Amino acid sequence: MVDLGIQQRLIEVRERILRAVERSNRDKDAVRLLAVSKTQPVLNLQEAYLAGQRAFAENRVQEWMEKDPLLPSDCEWHIVGRLQTNKVKYLNARVALIHSLDRFSLLETLNEQGQRRGLTWNTLVQVNISRDSAKAGLAPEEVPDFLNSIGDYSCVRVRGFMTIGALEASLQETREFFRQLRKLRDSLLSRKWVGVDLQELSMGMSRDFEVAIEEGATFVRVGREIFGERG
Ligand SMILES: *Cc1c(COP(=O)(O)O)cnc(C)c1O
Repeated sequence: MVDLGIQQRLIEVRERILRAVERSNRDKDAVRLLAVSKTQPVLNLQEAYLAGQRAFAENRVQEWMEKDPLLPSDCEWHIVGRLQTNKVKYLNARVALIHSLDRFSLLETLNEQGQRRGLTWNTLVQVNISRDSAKAGLAPEEVPDFLNSIGDYSCVRVRGFMTIGALEASLQETREFFRQLRKLRDSLLSRKWVGVDLQELSMGMSRDFEVAIEEGATFVRVGREIFGERG
């Protein structure tokens, strides 16, 4: 198989995003592509950077710490995937958004570290919309209480929701889950919670990012379609 290279694959992913945006009559600036660079060597991120990519997502704090100093300072970093509380102390203001706020203990730790170091974290609440027992995230019915308490943690802001499409599901089922997350968000939009706005929906990966855009995603998290299969 011919390897198109990261720059060419990025161009193709961007074109597919644009087409999905147009199909769904959305504004093209309403969707942002995150290049999920976990397990990728720094060279691959640099190649994506040269092709204009600035927003990257990592799922391990250690890996992010190693990569951040090796990339230009105008890169924007997102943390996806389960975040251990004992790793929060290594995060800093270079992290634009944490996509995986999934439990009270993490909320408490983020707030504690934020207070200690004068930082405010932007987060998304991870919702286990498909109720997959193998996945992290709050059950949909737990979300309102969780948002209710955000005001008690002044160093944490919630910007919206994140979910991971079910691996076993068909694209049609996945679409239904994305739609449910959006409906949950829409149903909560009129509620006014301190420290909470619900503008962002992070949903969609390589296999389902177009469906996610059609269902309202504002961030899509794409790894393999940009970088190739992970080693
Ligand atoms: C790995 C990962 C992705 C990207 O998955 P691909 O299938 O490589 O696009 C997106 N979101 C999360 C949370 C991930 O862990």
